[in-house]
Amino acid sequence: MTDSISLPTYDWPKLEAGWVWLCGAGPGDPGLLTLHALNALRQADVVIYDALVQEAILDWAPQAEHIYAGKRGGKPSAKQKDISLRLVDLARAGKRVLRLKGGDPFVFGRGGEEAQTLVQHGIPVRIIPGISAGIGGLAYAGIPVTHRDVNQSVTFVTGHDQTGEVTSSLNWEAISRGSQVLVIYMGMKHAEHIAGSLMAAGRAADEPVAVVCEATTANQAVLETTLGNLVADIAASGLAPPAIICVGRSVLMRQVLDWQGMAAGEPPRDLDPLKRGKPAERA
Ligand code: SAH
Repeated sequence: MTDSISLPTYDWPKLEAGWVWLCGAGPGDPGLLTLHALNALRQADVVIYDALVQEAILDWAPQAEHIYAGKRGGKPSAKQKDISLRLVDLARAGKRVLRLKGGDPFVFGRGGEEAQTLVQHGIPVRIIPGISAGIGGLAYAGIPVTHRDVNQSVTFVTGHDQTGEVTSSLNWEAISRGSQVLVIYMGMKHAEHIAGSLMAAGRAADEPVAVVCEATTANQAVLETTLGNLVADIAASGLAPPAIICVGRSVLMRQVLDWQGMAAGEPPRDLDPLKRGKPAERA
């Protein structure tokens, strides 16, 4: 165990030999790790991490072996089954295993399958949630994922399935009718299909959309556009994954809540972007 990073006093769980802790690393900014994640990093013998986990986070486990299990360039460089079985092998070898995944391990991250495989092999597990990019990443862009004046529900959608293709089971019509705000993970590759399907299902071409790339990192970039202009504006911007696409009027709130822009000296663009004409909160 490393003592280099201290934790507050608390009854921290011990990562025992032969266990696997499946842990979310948050969307990027290492400061968005949970204390349970830090506790795990300090105890692990092995950290198996994904492509979206920042280097700085691994530096907080200097005593551990670091194994990359990510997928690059859209091509699976490590098969899901192999990763899961590697975790089984490491646990059986008596290691304290930390499986570190971007965002939250149970949100579009195959964490459910990995945990199930471990349990099926008799390996004890602990799950440590993380801040998902579709919530925390949007917050860093100044977009509240719910807002009383915009939405009473939010739908998280994946833009493609395991094969990289558009998920055929998605009913875009139901999705577009069912929720004022859509938060789309892995949507860049099929942005054209997604925007087209939503507009065909009745969402307006001038509906606000934000594309938040590499959210919460030093490279964070945000594109504000509309459903109708999404594809052309992504192409013109040169933005690339990883990105969250947010569809809905909550995107307008960025005009008053772009806190990173304001911290850099930019004034808020509009103090009342939803045009309520009254203070945001009244007694
Ligand atoms: N478990 C993760 C999601 C894994 S799927 C989570 O809870 O956040 C991978 C997708 O997540 C990416 O294609 C992208 O859509 C989104 N994503 C993850 N990190 C991101 C980031 N820092 N900025 C923008 N999108 C991100």
